[in-house]
Amino acid sequence: MLVARGLSKDYASGDRPLTVLHEVSFEIPRGAYVSIVGPSGSGKTTLLGLLAGLDTPSRGSVLLDGTDFSALGEDQRAALRGEKVGFVFQSFQLIPTLTALENVQVPLELRGDTSPADAAARARDLLDRVGLHGRSHHFPTQLSGGEQQRVALARAFVNAPRILFADEPTGNLDGSTGARIVELIEELNRERGTTVVLVTHDASLAERTQRTLRLRDGYVIEDTVRVPSAAGSIPTSLPSASA
Ligand code: ADP
Ligand code: MG
Repeated sequence: MLVARGLSKDYASGDRPLTVLHEVSFEIPRGAYVSIVGPSGSGKTTLLGLLAGLDTPSRGSVLLDGTDFSALGEDQRAALRGEKVGFVFQSFQLIPTLTALENVQVPLELRGDTSPADAAARARDLLDRVGLHGRSHHFPTQLSGGEQQRVALARAFVNAPRILFADEPTGNLDGSTGARIVELIEELNRERGTTVVLVTHDASLAERTQRTLRLRDGYVIEDTVRVPSAAGSIPTSLPSASA
């Protein structure tokens, strides 16, 4: 379970702070498949960074399986992320001096509980699954945008995260490569029960998810649930409490 409680984020802007996220609250149950949509600049990336514990809120808190990120120091937060969180960035953020295989191994090396041989085997298996067999020893600059995105996805999958955050995972990709990435993400959700929270501009992708949070100017203005909840409710669109 992922809980956002009164999340706000201010950035310094000249002499007064600019609030880009306003008291956002919601709960995402384990195993859910959720999208976040909204215009450019509405706070989607900022929200994802807070939820993943990559960034700290100005006010409010994030609880991942009952652990409050804000109660942790940077090292403990990094450990919790390493244990439970996968993240696919908008800009891939692969390490340019490492090969595809080495990039995918990084999360396992950070955890330090996998032997180098096992880490390499696991990374190779993931690269195969994302269709990059034969590209293991390529450096990021030797790969197309779609291939880099798949390496980023393999890296996010490698430690079998409980929760995967993806920021515009199909944003820079052509249709068929994008569809492939979506398939991989949905497979992870379906088969491993990984909770997936993705930001997208693609309305048809958002409609495939079970629930969509819509942001505008840092407010959640809509929370649409498409699949019956455990309580058996029919699809419904609710105004958010914080709108
Ligand atoms: P989105 O992902 O929806 O396009 P962002 O979360 O990236 O939106 O940004 C939301 C707002 O916060 C934007 O107005 C952006 O300019 C501002 N912003 C984002 N990051 C920073 C930063 N590091 N410093 C100052 N302002 C920022
Ligand atoms: Mg963004």
